[in-house]
Amino acid sequence: MITEKISKTNGHKLSIDEIGDDHLFSGLDTPMKASAFEMSDTEKKERISILFSEIMDVLGLDLTDDSLQGTPDRVAKMYIEEIFSGLDPKNKPKVALFDNKYQYNQMLVEKNITFYSNCEHHFVPIIGKAHIAYKSSGKVIGLSKLNRIVQYYAKRPQVQERLTNQIANELKTVLETEDVAVIIDAKHLCVSSRGIQDDTSTTVTTYYGGEFNNASKILELQNYINN
Ligand SMILES: [Zn+2]
Repeated sequence: MITEKISKTNGHKLSIDEIGDDHLFSGLDTPMKASAFEMSDTEKKERISILFSEIMDVLGLDLTDDSLQGTPDRVAKMYIEEIFSGLDPKNKPKVALFDNKYQYNQMLVEKNITFYSNCEHHFVPIIGKAHIAYKSSGKVIGLSKLNRIVQYYAKRPQVQERLTNQIANELKTVLETEDVAVIIDAKHLCVSSRGIQDDTSTTVTTYYGGEFNNASKILELQNYINN
């Protein structure tokens, strides 16, 4: 959709490089290949370690140096077990629903959920805060689960728009309601530490579903978040 608009306005067709550098695309699903989980985690770590040591070698680093020797294994372990663990559905948080015994049927806001993700175009960090709100459909989930859902989708190579939508979509599914809102305010290191080198800008993305898609609700929500 976005490309069509852009190519219509200035007749310019975007290259793969421009698409990545301007972070233009964002389907809901993380683009995964069909065979993504044919290899075991152990095999993946072994493979990544070999490939990463090649990158280091090409850069001219001395892999026999005590300080560098363990790096390929450490990076492989970090990719699979930590920063990209959210690619694997087996790591998805299991969410139990409880009945809303308190009959609390106003909005619930969980704000300032810190997350670390990585930009899928440059593989450098995205550091941000997520704010989540929902209105119970009669069911509630533990507050820590909101945090875990954010962390799960953050631990993937990401674009911020998709991260926002994936969190919103998961919340709608587990909470059985359309009344969810997700606001993400994040700093992209690919913008601050390289490229344009803008150290002060942050990017805000939002999803307002159901009852939240309403000017007065949005204002009310922004009040909670900013205070
Ligand atoms: Zn980037």
